[in-house]
Amino acid sequence: MVSSNTYDAIIIGGGHNGLTAAAYLARAGRKVLVLERRHVLGGAAVTEEVFPGFHFSVCSYVVSLLRPEIIRELDLPRHGLEILPLDGTFTPMPNGNHLWRMSDHGLTRREIYRHSPLDAEAYDEYGKAMVEMARFVKPIMSMVPPDPFAPDIEGLRGMAHMYKRFRALSTADRHNLLQLMTVSAVDLLDRWFETDVLKATMSASGIIGTFLGVRSPGTAYVLLHHYMGEIDGAFRAWGFSRGGTGAISLAIAAAAREAGAEVRSLAGVERIVVRDGRATGVVLEGGEEIEARVVASSLDPHRTFLRLLEPRTLPDDFVEEVRRYKLRGSSGKVNMALDGLPDFTAMPGAGAHLRGAISISPSVEYMERAYDQAKYGQYSRRPYMDIVIPSLTDPSIAPPGKHVMSCFVQYAPYKLSDGDWDTQKEAFGDTVVDTISEYAPNLKSLILHRQVLTPLDLEREWGLTEGNIFQGELSMEQLFFLRPVPGWARYRTPVRSLYMCGSATHPGGGIMAAPGRLAALEILKDWKRGKA
Ligand SMILES: Cc1cc2nc3c(=O)[nH]c(=O)nc-3n(C[C@H](O)[C@H](O)[C@H](O)COP(=O)(O)OP(=O)(O)OC[C@H]3O[C@@H](n4cnc5c(N)ncnc54)[C@H](O)[C@@H]3O)c2cc1C
Repeated sequence: MVSSNTYDAIIIGGGHNGLTAAAYLARAGRKVLVLERRHVLGGAAVTEEVFPGFHFSVCSYVVSLLRPEIIRELDLPRHGLEILPLDGTFTPMPNGNHLWRMSDHGLTRREIYRHSPLDAEAYDEYGKAMVEMARFVKPIMSMVPPDPFAPDIEGLRGMAHMYKRFRALSTADRHNLLQLMTVSAVDLLDRWFETDVLKATMSASGIIGTFLGVRSPGTAYVLLHHYMGEIDGAFRAWGFSRGGTGAISLAIAAAAREAGAEVRSLAGVERIVVRDGRATGVVLEGGEEIEARVVASSLDPHRTFLRLLEPRTLPDDFVEEVRRYKLRGSSGKVNMALDGLPDFTAMPGAGAHLRGAISISPSVEYMERAYDQAKYGQYSRRPYMDIVIPSLTDPSIAPPGKHVMSCFVQYAPYKLSDGDWDTQKEAFGDTVVDTISEYAPNLKSLILHRQVLTPLDLEREWGLTEGNIFQGELSMEQLFFLRPVPGWARYRTPVRSLYMCGSATHPGGGIMAAPGRLAALEILKDWKRGKA
């Protein structure tokens, strides 16, 4: 059945990037329809009342990378966006000691001094060097990647500008930048620091969402990717979104709707319709066909090109590149509803250390061992974890006196060597609880409910192939003009009028909204040139 409605653009997927693309297209006067398979909008940036009274940021849980120009242009605070500060990172250690880095620079310096006076000095220098690196890389986040394989005037200009900026860096910064692109997170940190727990906790940002260890080359860059938001705005850090990360998606959806976009949930797309080499619409899971001049997919390339399109629609070499695109999920999530607050042996009581991130990363060896198990197809028996208790900062998300605790867990490889995730899921949840209990022995007595998400759950429920949280690893060979595949990093695809607009495109995963915005601007450009 063909719907009588025809749209200028259909966006597949109502995650925050799809919604952002819709908002920009609708604001340009286009008739836009967003189609979301789930019952709720937001994709991996979603809030759900998983247990009565407990609202979880089910997948993503903190925000920092959301582009300031998008907050401004879509007027997101007016649509409900409010970012609350997340103060610091607390790392409990098995020997009863801890490391607690806070937003207050002086306090953090003192704390690091307690571990090593030399590191307290180096921490300042390191911070300055990272800010310089982030300053260089940051504008790249807001640009459409040039195509070095077939540069046009615009691309040549972009590359020349980047080269000029690179030349303008000091020799030390240039050296740092090149190092950052190639070395491992630990190799980078070894150059600056001697305190093991400091290096372990800091290196953790380098492995998030990748199937790499803290000693694997290339992870230093991922560390910078996560550092990027820290030089934005007032907080210079990660924050919580009031109401959970779903509130970000809902604010973007409200901006899109206000501009006239239609948004449908429970509307899974089964197929992208291609006629004469051009995308002309989609067919929904129930059989309904909807036509549009342009289709933009916010799903990963495996889903978009290998599932929603007939393979023969695409050139063979392109399909080969898509198949080579690395997803390799490596993380899971355990969300808990608690009857009170965990009490950490390393710092007893309900202090401010519980309001920031709690990092289970006591040593570099611990981190590397966690990876060793994943390499051989097992989830880490003592995993790295990034834990937050957002109900301390935003009490609206849990009943009075109760709390929600979110545990991001790595490693949880998508492919297990023994058994499968359906049978190992709860054992994985137990491992997480046992690990935290070694540092906070009262945890078990507080748990009212527990939700365990494995990479398989992320694939089944959120459509994240192989459970990769960023719709594809943020490794060097899949970034910038190589994301998702060489020659096709400018949001266009080999099928005319079919575009990509999600995290699998530049600048990649995280709640950034940049891929959605950049894709929409490219679509509008093609329209103007009569090419869409
Ligand atoms: C466990 C986890 C933790 C994370 N933690 C953080 C964090 O703390 N901070 C951070 O910045 N980032 C984090 N991320 C990453 C971040 O959430 C994602 O990169 C980002 O939300 C992806 O947005 P997107 O719009 O590109 O894609 P998605 O959110 O993947 O949206 C795609 C949408 O398409 C829908 N869909 C799938 N198939 C179809 C179909 N056939 N038809 C219609 N709709 C379909 C999906 O249901 C989904 O809603 C995390 C991700 C995960 C999974």
